Amino acid sequence: AAKQSGRARVQLFDDTMREATSARAVAERALRAALDDDLEAWLPVWFQPIVSLHDRRLAGAEALARLKTADGNLVPPGEFIPLAEETGLIVPLGEHVLRTSLNQLVAWGDAVPYISVNVSPRQLAEPGFVPMLTAELTRAGLADPSRLVLEITETTMLERGIDLRDRLDAIKTLGVRLALDDFGTGYSSLTWLQSVPADIVKLDRSFVAGLAHDQDKAAIIAAVLWLARALGMTVVAEGVEDQADAAALASAGCPAAQGWFFGRPVEASAFGVVSAVT
Ligand code: C2E
Ligand code: MG
Ligand code: MG
Ligand code: MG
Repeated sequence: AAKQSGRARVQLFDDTMREATSARAVAERALRAALDDDLEAWLPVWFQPIVSLHDRRLAGAEALARLKTADGNLVPPGEFIPLAEETGLIVPLGEHVLRTSLNQLVAWGDAVPYISVNVSPRQLAEPGFVPMLTAELTRAGLADPSRLVLEITETTMLERGIDLRDRLDAIKTLGVRLALDDFGTGYSSLTWLQSVPADIVKLDRSFVAGLAHDQDKAAIIAAVLWLARALGMTVVAEGVEDQADAAALASAGCPAAQGWFFGRPVEASAFGVVSAVT
């Protein structure tokens, strides 16, 4: 009987493995197909509003990639971004998201003050990254480069073993702004905060969701707000899901936030901005 159940367990494990492998294979196939074909159709870029908390006006938007499979399903980035990073496909994917975001900034004009684009360590480590960024800014004709924000995470510095600080300085020299994404997660947050020429700190949603009912979270948020202000950075809280958390953040003095309470990521045409371009 023991042998029987052992075998059953092994069988179950195999099935789970096979499922994971095939989900991966499906995602990889979809990703390669998308990059070979019509990027706009297969890798749509969605936008989520970032809202100024004192007047509830639109402060900016975050660009979030989606992957459409042949059967019309949308694969969430949690499933294809790590895969894209492993395979190196993140480089053309990231370029597509950047190009789309720059075009959108120009099309939307002042209605959307800035767009925040996630950049993975692998992209930043490419020697061609800064030249590509420079060329794309020129091509799009974005008059004010500070309307582009690049979001990076701590793993940018930790994973690669190469010093990307010069690269971050070069990005800043272009006038593009930097945001520290998912701040508070990871290992050396304070060192990270001090060593990177960032303009914006994005407070991870693990500190934000439920903050209205959690003294500890409220204390951490107050400390991060104080620290960021002292270092000359502004703060965007991520993952605001209800009115109570939005109100608690506002009264703590947090300048801006994003989350389902304000709006989910949507395609550009549904973003609710009337394009000034005719
Ligand atoms: P992120 O950069 O931290 O983006 C925020 C994520 O939180 C998004 O997930 C967004 O949909 C989700 N979110 C926003 N508001 C709420 C909320 O109120 N509650 C909850 N529970 N979640 C909320 P998404 O779109 O699934 O993206 C996941 C991650 O994938 C992103 O996390 C980012 O790290 C990565 N990613 C997405 N697009 C790109 C891209 O173009 N390039 C790179 N390198 N990474 C990307
Ligand atoms: Mg982000
Ligand atoms: Mg984040
Ligand atoms: Mg992230």
